[in-house]
Amino acid sequence: MATTAGRSLKIGMLPADGIGREVLPAARAAILALGSSIPKPEFIDLAAGFEHFTRTGTALPDETVSVLQQECDCAMFGAVSSPSRKVTGYSSPIVALRKKMDLYANIRPVTSVSLHQLSDCNSTAPISMPQVAADPTAKPDVDLVVIRENTECLYVKQENQVNTEHGKEARATRLITERASRRIGEMAFKTALARPRKHVTIIHKSNVLSITDGLFRETVRAVPSLPGVNGKYDEVAIAEQLVDSAVYRLFREPNIYDVMVAPNLYGDILSDAAAALVGSLGLVPSINAGDSFVMGEPVHGSAPDIAGQDIANPLAAIRSAALMLRHLGYGDGANRIEKAVDAVIREGKVLTPDLGGKSKTSEVTNEVIKRI
Ligand code: ATP
Ligand code: MG
Repeated sequence: MATTAGRSLKIGMLPADGIGREVLPAARAAILALGSSIPKPEFIDLAAGFEHFTRTGTALPDETVSVLQQECDCAMFGAVSSPSRKVTGYSSPIVALRKKMDLYANIRPVTSVSLHQLSDCNSTAPISMPQVAADPTAKPDVDLVVIRENTECLYVKQENQVNTEHGKEARATRLITERASRRIGEMAFKTALARPRKHVTIIHKSNVLSITDGLFRETVRAVPSLPGVNGKYDEVAIAEQLVDSAVYRLFREPNIYDVMVAPNLYGDILSDAAAALVGSLGLVPSINAGDSFVMGEPVHGSAPDIAGQDIANPLAAIRSAALMLRHLGYGDGANRIEKAVDAVIREGKVLTPDLGGKSKTSEVTNEVIKRI
């Protein structure tokens, strides 16, 4: 998917709501700081979000989708506010974008701050632990990736309700297909192969949902023996776990996990739980990936409680930009950004308040840029 030399890299920028507008410029600055090690970035600002909906009646303009589809190589999404009550005519633009761009995988690496520090063992500087590492609730030894199927499961949103003689009855359809399970399985094996531990855990609940989760589990398990794979995944170990016990073990002994692959709803819950293990939401990046497009997105929401104060942590958005670049084949650029972020965390001097610091979003961003 890497763009050929000489071409520019067209990046759609969708800051959307709240702190999305404060952290996306940080991601942009980090990409720009890479200079000539990636094709010249060309940023295209695009409208989306709840605030856009309240002004115009649409949360995801057709124009945004067509520019993404026809002009952009990739995109960065900020964050979208979710209204606390149902608002007529509104539906989440991020959910719609995943569907329209066929971004079938949500990939979320979750790594302890202390492991980031250890991984940079070339550094001879004394390690001063930032406050986040001293957070007694943050686990020190988490280094995993949650790969969540992004297009089906209960998210097909086919619900209905009827009145019966005993009162209301509501149902939801849960869709699991072989096609979607196979491609998310392939993404999981590909991801595991590129990691040191090379281990995939399939998350399901097939003791209860033997047909739907049974299909997911069997299809992912069968990926290494698909025609054309030719032993490529022989080195990857496969385990499986019921989702309830996976949550329990994630909290008790998170270091047993490397790549976790799950249907949409379990993946949603697991990826937030995993993020909670390492401290601030302001640190955790993600990408939404398909076969021909990738969109970086920090895991946090629009954080209305801190929006507009220039104190949002920009590191999750900056790391999301790095993940996006790596997915496109620009691993060197991604490494430079990630090392710069790790150095800023390690030094612990210029950090936003969520990590115990006193610095502004813009100051943290400048600190990262200096190191890139
Ligand atoms: P939304 O409806 O948009 O998800 P939310 O109220 O759930 O909004 P989140 O963005 O999910 O807010 O954030 C949850 C908590 O974590 C908030 O207290 C928020 O301030 C904090 N938080 C989230 N992202 C960041 C960040 N980048 N920097 C600092 N704090 C953050
Ligand atoms: Mg939220």
